[in-house]
Amino acid sequence: MDTLVGRIDREDIDDNILKKGGDIIRAGGLVAFPTETVYGLGGDALNPASSRKIYEAKGRPSDNPLIVHIADIGALARIASMKDEDYSIPGIYDKVVRLADSFWPGPLTIILKKTDAVPYETTGGLDTVAVRMPSDPIALGLISASGGYIAAPSANISGRPSPTRINHVIEDMDGRIDMILDGGDVDIGVESTIVDLTEDRPVILRPGAVTADDLGTILGKVYTDPALAGDTDKAPKAPGMKYRHYAPKADLTIVKGDSDKVMAYINEQAAINKSNLLKTGVICVNEHLLDYTATSVKCVGRSDDRALTAHKLYAILREFDDEDMDIIYSEAFDPDGIGQAVMNRLTKAAGHKIIEL
Ligand code: AMP
Ligand code: MG
Repeated sequence: MDTLVGRIDREDIDDNILKKGGDIIRAGGLVAFPTETVYGLGGDALNPASSRKIYEAKGRPSDNPLIVHIADIGALARIASMKDEDYSIPGIYDKVVRLADSFWPGPLTIILKKTDAVPYETTGGLDTVAVRMPSDPIALGLISASGGYIAAPSANISGRPSPTRINHVIEDMDGRIDMILDGGDVDIGVESTIVDLTEDRPVILRPGAVTADDLGTILGKVYTDPALAGDTDKAPKAPGMKYRHYAPKADLTIVKGDSDKVMAYINEQAAINKSNLLKTGVICVNEHLLDYTATSVKCVGRSDDRALTAHKLYAILREFDDEDMDIIYSEAFDPDGIGQAVMNRLTKAAGHKIIEL
């Protein structure tokens, strides 16, 4: 399949390109597009054949549900129940409206009970639906041009880091989908926060830029899925979180502890690896750039700038793939704010391999 690539300037959006993308989605085709979190791979959320195509293009297991993207709050009622009696959490209507007011458009996905309009192909067989309103004007324009409901997982081949740069999307999706909207680099760099409102209490299934504290102002106490820590036998409730994910080809380990010890350990391992003709990569904060002696050292911003780490993380994991790195060590980063999402993705990319010194 020939994949059309349309360059769009966020400051001066060409409606003809959006219309072209919208027509493709309405006709059952697939279009990759930028959002403020990562690039999405979009199809008509209300068309079961489109959702099946998304799974096929990504090589994604079909029990892993898709997020439905909307462009205005009025679109919600068609796909999600807003009736208080369908939920255990009291006052759901009021809470969802307040969440939407505070965090939409933005990096928050809300899990609600689905209506019959949403096919099970889109929800991976679940009676619940994940909904988000992204803030990127290109995404909002495409959703409107497509009829209002775009199912979109991240636009990567299943198992690879989510795409945050246009070249990542082209690498993974060229020849597999109808069109790619090129909006340059995305802003945040890690996927949306997912909060589930369909159980007895609000639970974060995936950490992102919107934190439990942010949500707490509206939802009261917000819990975090214990399976995210990886120290329980229970499967995570967001089906996607159970799959190996975000993983570079090299073997990645997180090294935690006092920074002098971490540097000494990593440099020692890098020397051993070198004598075995293995290439070592390091992920570290800017302040430590000159302290490492590995083959390739990549910085993720200063130690107080976790937003920059989120922005750069997936691109760095892909760069190490391009450099054919054999072994990667990463420093651990402060898990405050968006740092929690960073450490969640990094830990998954490392397959939970963490060395504590
Ligand atoms: P991605 O689209 O690649 O960001 O992945 C979407 C994430 O949302 C996956 O981790 C899914 O498992 C999760 N998700 C989507 N819909 C639901 C749902 N109805 N219940 C729980 N998790 C969901
Ligand atoms: Mg994904």
